[in-house]
Amino acid sequence: MGLEVNILGCGSASPSLRHLPSCQVINHNGNLFMVDCGEGAQLSMRRMGLKFSRLRHIFISHLHGDHILGLPGLLSTLALCETRGEVHVYMPAEGVELMRMMIAQFAHSLTYTLEIHPLKIGKALIYEDKSLTVETMALCHAVPAVGFIFREKPRPRQMRGDMVEFYKVPVSQRAAIKAGADFVTDDGRVIPNSWLTADPLPSASYAYCSDTIYNPGVVQAVAGVGTLYHEATYADDKAHLAAQRGHTTARQAGQAAREAGAKQLIIGHFSSSYIGKEDVLRTEAEEAYGAPVLMADEGKVFEV
Ligand SMILES: [Zn+2]
Repeated sequence: MGLEVNILGCGSASPSLRHLPSCQVINHNGNLFMVDCGEGAQLSMRRMGLKFSRLRHIFISHLHGDHILGLPGLLSTLALCETRGEVHVYMPAEGVELMRMMIAQFAHSLTYTLEIHPLKIGKALIYEDKSLTVETMALCHAVPAVGFIFREKPRPRQMRGDMVEFYKVPVSQRAAIKAGADFVTDDGRVIPNSWLTADPLPSASYAYCSDTIYNPGVVQAVAGVGTLYHEATYADDKAHLAAQRGHTTARQAGQAAREAGAKQLIIGHFSSSYIGKEDVLRTEAEEAYGAPVLMADEGKVFEV
């Protein structure tokens, strides 16, 4: 249970020896969901022990190269690994035709069915299974861009072991009781659900916001999220570049997280101009957020 956020790349577009371009893998109950696919993504999966066979859904936020150029290679590798079944790619509609052409040219003998889903820029439910949803939200960047919000569905109530034993609740009835049913004993006594169960653990939620400028609409879209990953490309000294290039400063990322009420903030998409001095990004983000901020880094895994 919960979401595990694996950081495969958290640098911005300019290549550096310190960071790789944007890529994350969200693990939910052993199912892997990739968010953005910068160059090097497939090697990073290998390095982090993330199995290709568990990856079935890939979400691309926008069509800048540092968020997508790892994808043709990865899709080709999935075929080399003889992946079967379906693989789903979700990407802004403008890039779908080009991606189909690239796959046709460079990865022509797919062993699996590739479904490419065009995304509109705005709020939409794009994925759902029995315990998880993924929604898009509009970001404000130089090109059309979406963020992604992962939400675990409400978890079942927790059985109280002592009461289950006391009332000898049969295994066959436990699923219904976890879902909220009362229990009726053999002699007809009704045991209320509240005696048998405790409140469920809170469900995890995680929002990915990269790339974007600070924008109240983005803040509103992620309001109440448990953990927010927000780009923080520049510090205050390059705030003018952030505005010009459609990016956020670390301080603005902290502000967005505070205003959204996010319980935890991870920052990333760091400009290569801060190599060796990324602490300034953390400090400025923390000043605005008012609490400790987590720094993304290649190979790091966050439990949210
Ligand atoms: Zn971008």
